[in-house]
Amino acid sequence: MNSTVPAIVILGAGALETARRIQTRYPGAQIHGLAGRVEGDVAYSELSAHLRELYARGTPLVALCAAGIVIRCIAPLLSDKGAEPPVLAVAEDGSAVVPLLGGLAGVNRMAREIADALGVSPAITTSGELRFGTCVLNPPDGYALSSLTQGKRFVSDLLAGESTRIEGEAPWLDDARLPRSADARLVIRVTPQAWNGSADELLIHPRSVVAATDGLDGDIVGHVQHALSASGIAGLSLAALLVPIERAGEVTLTEAAATLGVTLRFVATPATDSKPHTLLAAAMRVPHDILAGDSPVALALAHAPVDPSSVGQARGRLSVIGLGPGDARLMAPAARAALDAATDVLGYETYVTMAGPFRADQRVHGTDNREEMQRARHAFELAAEGRSVVMVSSGDPGVFAMAAAVLEALHESGNARWGSVELEIVPGVSAAMATAAQAGAPLGHDFCMLSLSDNLKPWEVIENRLRHAAGADLVMAFYNPVSRARPWQLDKALDIVREFRSPETTVVLGRNVGRPGGQVRHMSLGELRGEMVDMRTMVIIGSSLTRAFSVNGKTQWIYTPRWYRQV
Ligand code: SAH
Repeated sequence: MNSTVPAIVILGAGALETARRIQTRYPGAQIHGLAGRVEGDVAYSELSAHLRELYARGTPLVALCAAGIVIRCIAPLLSDKGAEPPVLAVAEDGSAVVPLLGGLAGVNRMAREIADALGVSPAITTSGELRFGTCVLNPPDGYALSSLTQGKRFVSDLLAGESTRIEGEAPWLDDARLPRSADARLVIRVTPQAWNGSADELLIHPRSVVAATDGLDGDIVGHVQHALSASGIAGLSLAALLVPIERAGEVTLTEAAATLGVTLRFVATPATDSKPHTLLAAAMRVPHDILAGDSPVALALAHAPVDPSSVGQARGRLSVIGLGPGDARLMAPAARAALDAATDVLGYETYVTMAGPFRADQRVHGTDNREEMQRARHAFELAAEGRSVVMVSSGDPGVFAMAAAVLEALHESGNARWGSVELEIVPGVSAAMATAAQAGAPLGHDFCMLSLSDNLKPWEVIENRLRHAAGADLVMAFYNPVSRARPWQLDKALDIVREFRSPETTVVLGRNVGRPGGQVRHMSLGELRGEMVDMRTMVIIGSSLTRAFSVNGKTQWIYTPRWYRQV
């Protein structure tokens, strides 16, 4: 889960090597580097503001600097007893690992993991943890402590010298140095049952129950809680809420899962039967008993904690993103986030390479295949299985790129499973915008974007549109101006433009803008020759008012004024 992936924060290059070693222990973790001092995966400009922001978001923090600095930065947020993510200070050279905050969020476990990766001993200071070798109040994933207040009293009794016995399965305590005795007054009880235990008991629930519903009946939370209490099961034992995949995306379901504090999972079933116990039969991969088999909610009780990610499938995701022209700084953070979360990345080979590098756990389906509809369908197939798919385009995905192909594929298919996919389109800086920005503001007044490719539309349509756009004195941005298979089209297009625009008209050419060796230049329409343009070039033909000027005899700027008058 994302919340367990720490942010590794460094202040200078001296910490980079240690940070990288910690990073290998946490796939997906990013190194946050102070801008101007060190280059990490993410740049920040001010340490305390950055640490506070991450902390407030509940992100586990591993800060490679003095413990005191970290404490001072976070201090203003500490009086609020809300969620407390793990916070650790690590010495720059990796020689010390100090857990500071987040005892109940597993900070000591993280300290051990990091110390292990760095080959040192963690500076554990929690007394229960030191005495027993584990934090009894912080059971591992898959288990939930019933009551913290009761737990604290229990641990202080243990620290005062009492012994305990364990009822139920608590494999993580096998190696703990707990004072045990068969007739102890204190009991650690591990059970999915709602237990009205006395103060002598530390109650821990294995998250071993899955609730299934067809979701048709309004009050899902009420029905689940009723089913649980009718079976004597504690709410904290619930691991997942299971619903038919066709219902994915319904807000009531997302809200119900959030209220219950469980993961929402999906299952595909025959359209004719979405009875709760049929859902469970199709989705459960571990031995279990059915506790309540009746509509509207059925419960499956497994013999051990259930990993929610093993039940049915996740709701698949398809993000169609724009990379911008190529310069990473011009990519939207939302596109970066989608790439980081991706299990699968699809797209034209060149762009997939531009979007990388990728982690070993990410599948890259780079292809030279120009068949865009086929690629779009492949993306839906993967996403419908529950994967997080990213389809990359250069520039903006909605400008002569994959977003329209993806929507066309969805529109044509009528496939309910594809419809259940969480689809998002993340915009990007299109080549026309990137080129224009470098030249100045040639698109400062009305303009149009035209693709000169006649692969998917008849050439006559292109000619007709060119005539209208040129006649209307619009600034024009030409995409796909030429290609090996379309050698003559640009010259023909320019002939048409020249019927309407004078040879003095300003033209901007952007080639490989935002990529290595990128170049933006300008000239007059009279000087423009077809051979100056290739398939990596953006051609912007100015209007009658687009003009160039230079500042102090140096920088040249081009702009189209915001006003208009006939010349
Ligand atoms: N979705 C892309 C456009 C794809 S069409 C976008 O929004 O930018 C491909 C055409 O875009 C190319 O033939 C070229 O005309 C233009 N183009 C794409 N990237 C470019 C870049 N970095 N520099 C100049 N032109 C580019």
